[in-house]
Amino acid sequence: MALREGALRAKLLLCSRTLSKFASFSFARSLSELVSSQSVTSKPPEIADDHLIYTQEHSALKEALRKLIDQEINPYVDQWEAEGTFPAHKIFKILGNAGFLGVNKPVEYGGLGLDFSYSVAVAEELGNIRCGGIPMAIGVQSDMATPALARFGSDELKKEFLLTSIMGDKVACLGVSEVGAGSDVSSIKTKAVKKGDEYVINGGKMWTTSGTQADWMCLLANTSDGPPHKNKSLICLPMNLPGVHIARKISKMGMWSSDTAEVFFDDVRVPCKNIIGQEGMGFTYQMLQFQEERLWAVANIVTTMDNIIQETINYTRQRRIFQLPVLHHQAVHFRLAELQTEVELLRSLLYRATAMYIKGNDVTKLASMAKLKAGRLARELSDSCLQYWGGMGYTSDVPVSRFYRDCRLLSIGAGADEVMLGIICKYMDTLPKK
Ligand SMILES: Cc1cc2nc3c(=O)[nH]c(=O)nc-3n(C[C@H](O)[C@H](O)[C@H](O)COP(=O)(O)OP(=O)(O)OC[C@H]3O[C@@H](n4cnc5c(N)ncnc54)[C@H](O)[C@@H]3O)c2cc1C
Repeated sequence: MALREGALRAKLLLCSRTLSKFASFSFARSLSELVSSQSVTSKPPEIADDHLIYTQEHSALKEALRKLIDQEINPYVDQWEAEGTFPAHKIFKILGNAGFLGVNKPVEYGGLGLDFSYSVAVAEELGNIRCGGIPMAIGVQSDMATPALARFGSDELKKEFLLTSIMGDKVACLGVSEVGAGSDVSSIKTKAVKKGDEYVINGGKMWTTSGTQADWMCLLANTSDGPPHKNKSLICLPMNLPGVHIARKISKMGMWSSDTAEVFFDDVRVPCKNIIGQEGMGFTYQMLQFQEERLWAVANIVTTMDNIIQETINYTRQRRIFQLPVLHHQAVHFRLAELQTEVELLRSLLYRATAMYIKGNDVTKLASMAKLKAGRLARELSDSCLQYWGGMGYTSDVPVSRFYRDCRLLSIGAGADEVMLGIICKYMDTLPKK
């Protein structure tokens, strides 16, 4: 048994080395076959000696993704940032072919059938993309618009929307926030009224990531007049239906390469079978979906924070002031050490929450704490690092200024800091009852 396991691992590593030479991105799919055959025939892969939750397979997956990022994405990021959008269909097809858009989704719908820790590994690696907008759009596709569909959707819906999104044939977006409802999700106004075997949808969505390019939306709408937590449903809405209008592409302070849309629905008719799971359960499904979204966002930002610290070290080491490298001033290297310590603390919380989540625990409290801390730390870190770049930090030519703009979103999107504090207080039983 041990021999067989060793052989499999060796094959996997060999595969990974071959990949590093020839950059064959179909590797991730063969990796999943190896991992799943291991779990059937022998013990699950062992956690690597130098890691809390990752096995050698996680590392190999990350290595493969890194090559794809360096070849297919990073060389074009500056151009896409300047253009205010990126070719989502082209990039998602490349990622989908390689298996990176559904690592924890079922194999029968194109996923790799691995656990959520592999999604965290992928999110971490996507943090090496040299902007925040593209990883965010990829995250919407893989871990924000699709978890509820994967868990509760019908076979027919999953074939039409999940499989095609995982393979990168369709671009997905998530329609929760509205002009009048962001933090308070329960107060959304978009209505889906049942008429025969169709829902007729009226209303609108705001801040829709990938909204100008998306083929379908995971839409949260009110399907009855009942109490706000029980009157909502998630619906798969094709974006090419009559009555779906892209009102505008929103101009933003950061995340430039990710298009953000305002969308209106004017008597849009969708078959009732497009509902995800049970009618009236949409709010609950969305809250569950948020857990993966928040852990994904934390995993993604820890890598970027590492990179920004390292780039600041490199810059301040060669930039001299008062006869010394900037880095040699104690205020600078001590501050960077403090920030790196905070990043490591956040990473530990992320791994703890992930380890508990894949064992089936409710990690709402830990995920909310991690998201809160990530948003606050990213703001602090980007501000401190930018300072040490002096005037160069204030130009748009350096990664630190892009990070400064992009990361500001983390304390607002996917639940603002105050929403996270409210959730944590609920779990601490300190939130005053209404
Ligand atoms: C670039 C971008 C991309 C986005 N992508 C998507 C997407 O793809 N899909 C989607 O559905 N949404 C998306 N959003 C929306 C995002 O999730 C919302 O902006 C967010 O939930 C906050 O909602 P709001 O903007 O309406 O702010 P509001 O709800 O108006 O809140 C304003 C502020 O009030 C404060 N606040 C909130 N709750 C409390 C409280 N309990 N106590 C005290 N203060 C509080 C917070 O500081 C908050 O920032 C995106 C937003 C942006 C900017």
